[in-house]
Amino acid sequence: TVKTRFAPSPTGYLHVGGARTALYSWLYARNQGGQFVLRIEDTDLERSTQEAIDAIMEGMEWLGLNWEEGPYYQTKRFDRYNQLIDQLMAEGKAYKCYCPRERLDELREAQMANGEKPRYDGLCRDGDDKDLPYVIRFRNPQEGTVVFDDHVRGRIEVANTELDDLIIRRTDGSPTYNFCVVVDDWDMGITQVVRGEDHINNTPRQINIYKALGAPVPEFAHVSMILGDDGAKLSKRHGAVSVMQYRDDGYLPEALLNYLVRLGWSNGDQEIFSRQEMIELFSLEAINKSASAFNTDKLLWLNQHYMKSMDPEYVAEQLRWHMQDQNINTENGPQLSQLVTVMAERCQTLKEMAAASRYFYEDFEEFDPAAAKKHLRPVAEQPLLHVKAKLEALQDWTVENLHQVIQDTAAELEVGMGKVGMPLRVAVTGAGQSPGLDQTLLFIGRTRAVARINKAVE
Ligand code: GLU
Repeated sequence: TVKTRFAPSPTGYLHVGGARTALYSWLYARNQGGQFVLRIEDTDLERSTQEAIDAIMEGMEWLGLNWEEGPYYQTKRFDRYNQLIDQLMAEGKAYKCYCPRERLDELREAQMANGEKPRYDGLCRDGDDKDLPYVIRFRNPQEGTVVFDDHVRGRIEVANTELDDLIIRRTDGSPTYNFCVVVDDWDMGITQVVRGEDHINNTPRQINIYKALGAPVPEFAHVSMILGDDGAKLSKRHGAVSVMQYRDDGYLPEALLNYLVRLGWSNGDQEIFSRQEMIELFSLEAINKSASAFNTDKLLWLNQHYMKSMDPEYVAEQLRWHMQDQNINTENGPQLSQLVTVMAERCQTLKEMAAASRYFYEDFEEFDPAAAKKHLRPVAEQPLLHVKAKLEALQDWTVENLHQVIQDTAAELEVGMGKVGMPLRVAVTGAGQSPGLDQTLLFIGRTRAVARINKAVE
């Protein structure tokens, strides 16, 4: 059965590129009815942190990328790696290398000066044991070619003469990354390795290690890079790159997930995918070979689509987080789910929605100066006082009745609707923009609306 994995190095938060790789790996497992494993590649002790581990898991949970197995930690598996390194030593498939750093540096410089690719020259391959510090190198085959069929990139062939004898255990006894990955993917029964294309040069070396261990070689899919809108590799410079930053910025996980699946994968020209549709339609072969460019406008568009089309109760729960984040006390005002149905038309993010909804819950200190200058001052006293009297007398505070009040006021004063509506809008919201005035008044409520009009005509 199919088993895939996500194997982050915990040296930072879960970024967009990592999340997309995790998503593709997860989708393939789900599509095949297989399993998904989380493995923390924490062998770099200096750069790995518990904070990063927590942040990665938080990001995956927020996106709903659940795993059946793990998290496994490479640092807990050193005994296993070392046992297999000893086995390769006993079989003559690995050897001790005593070459000091200075020799390796000189070798590298000489090779580069000659226009050659730097590689270890195999001096210690068949040497005798010495009483000196050593590393252990993998005895890479010297003949033949490594061939694999990448699900994204097609057939890849690399001559063994291009590959040198990889260090698999350092002088301090710690196993190295390329060895640990192979042992893990074998032990964990991984059938398809989905990872970033920055690892493609490691793959032929790793395949040789699988063969030396007598392990089955998994299939591979190397996913292309993500570029910023300026064509450079996506980085912090391009704004939010941490998945949780997108939560903080007011995106729904469904929108980011939909955005990420399309960023480097397609199914015809379909843009909107529910989680279930992604799972049903996903295939590794349909992943793009070329790099993908990040497009914030498209992400915003998707976010608004999901805010408008998902269950308002659900969107309201996400909005609640932002209300709290912006210190808006929502006890006294419209229900959040009702707010969502009105505001989703007008906002692209939940953060924006929270900020734009403050006046439904809290009184404001100041009228927006430009709007006030245009619509309140010199005071639009007559229409405001006229409409206030009607609002105070209104029996049922409904959208229909509120609409009628504004219409009647304009008719009775023999002015256009705007001459009533705009001063009223500025008076009750403090600003020149809001949803329809009847809806806005409904949300604000009678007590607040009247008090704010009084303040506007003071
Ligand atoms: N730990 C590696 C990384 O974070 C992933 C290696 C792999 O997927 O094989 O880039």
